[in-house]
Amino acid sequence: MKIGRFEISIISDGTFKLDGGGMYGIVPRVLWEKKTPPDIQNRITLGMNCVLVRTGKKNFLIETGLGDKLSDKFRKIYEVQKGNQLLIGLARLGLSAKDIDGVIATHLHFDHCGGCTEMSADGRLRSVFPNAKYFVQKQEWHDALHTNKLTEGSYLEENFLPLEKSRLLELIDGSKKIEEGISVQVTGGHTKGHQIVWLESAGEKACFLGDFIPTTSHLRLAWVMAYDEYPIELVNLKKGILEKLVEEKHLCFWYHDPQIPASYLKWDEKKNASVVQW
Ligand SMILES: [Zn+2]
Repeated sequence: MKIGRFEISIISDGTFKLDGGGMYGIVPRVLWEKKTPPDIQNRITLGMNCVLVRTGKKNFLIETGLGDKLSDKFRKIYEVQKGNQLLIGLARLGLSAKDIDGVIATHLHFDHCGGCTEMSADGRLRSVFPNAKYFVQKQEWHDALHTNKLTEGSYLEENFLPLEKSRLLELIDGSKKIEEGISVQVTGGHTKGHQIVWLESAGEKACFLGDFIPTTSHLRLAWVMAYDEYPIELVNLKKGILEKLVEEKHLCFWYHDPQIPASYLKWDEKKNASVVQW
């Protein structure tokens, strides 16, 4: 896949399952179950579609999935496969962790940055990508270290604290360009410091939406997650972002969509954003 001169690869870190009600907030099950039928425990399958951007000079990875430090209990609850699927996927492309120059995390929840760190053979935590800068919003870093009862289950320190010690952490304060053709925009909504990633090369455009719009089933404005900390803020911004994605013909990356990791968008007859099949 290409965006201008950028070579793009979607690398799956496997799938996991979350409660369907949690994924759709106020939307009743009779509506969401048509799009994503739940299992007997009311859980739906979610993808973790990390994106590799090769600019020609540098290799950037957007998100790192769940990683491979999970306990058996955790794997059972969330139905997670064993092994580091992300590193296996990179190897298939002829790359190793050392070849990654930059890692962009939309936010620090465990299903987005678990693969940033690993446990070495002697039981010490270390960063997985030794030559990469890890781009995280300053606000997100603060909130990950100052949790409350609502957020503490999502932020697991072993996924991000070792980055600070290894001096690979690059805290970004607000929306910024981080490389020619790669910029981040703070959206808030899901978390206060959540960011999305805009790509542009030779007139072609793409956007990685993270948990701002996690799947193609979340395109309707009110279809937001119970996990969103600031849902009204998210809905208010979503309208404008969707307009931009449709009008400016962005390729959109859907991190959690188990079936459609990327698509373009168009307006349907009711002027709702809908997926262009390809
Ligand atoms: Zn997520």
